[in-house]
Amino acid sequence: MAEESYENATNGGAKKEFNPDERIRSGFAYFKTEKYDKDPELYDELAKDQSPKFLVFACSDSRVCPSHILNFQPGEAFLVRNIANMVPPYDQIKYSGAGASIEYAIVHLKVENILVMGHSCCGGIKGLMSIPDDGSIDSDFIEEWVKICSISKAKVKSEHGDKDFVEQCTILEKEAVNESLANLLTYPFVREAVMNKSLALKGGHYDFVNGSFELWDIDEFNISHSGSL
Ligand SMILES: [Zn+2]
Repeated sequence: MAEESYENATNGGAKKEFNPDERIRSGFAYFKTEKYDKDPELYDELAKDQSPKFLVFACSDSRVCPSHILNFQPGEAFLVRNIANMVPPYDQIKYSGAGASIEYAIVHLKVENILVMGHSCCGGIKGLMSIPDDGSIDSDFIEEWVKICSISKAKVKSEHGDKDFVEQCTILEKEAVNESLANLLTYPFVREAVMNKSLALKGGHYDFVNGSFELWDIDEFNISHSGSL
């Protein structure tokens, strides 16, 4: 048993040890009987191929899984999850992981929509807002990653400097989505598909405090490479 074992909810007064293997096995058993075995047509189809309509960028935050929030079924959405749901600009060296996912979704799967989905109380966005003005950082990866949306942070600081930190973070959660949408256009295959109208870019923000979802489209002609809308 791992030393750092977690304790599950109490059961009849006795604390039950959390068993990760059991959780994984029972989770799959539930899926197999309640979903997989009940829809053989779908899973036979998916065994041959996938043709998702969406590429979705969502945060790694455990509360914002798009398959739950937006009820995406297997085969519907190609997902990329990372800290603060950011899309980095085209860079074959620094950001090859993100580039490979986008290239595969656009060039091979030919998805018709890209959704970048921000969310309330995002720790990554708070991290970006918290980087001191001198740019000093003390994490190995996190701050360098979230600095992808530094232009949005500067915009929020200059336009909403009078607001408190929490409000600034909420505004940045949405601004950063727009910067990510603009960054998508630095990928030639994305830009070409948007110009051909075979691909639409959409921004979203899931507020899990109020239980609401905001969705917006962007007009490709209003986006500049600088990331401003
Ligand atoms: Zn987040």
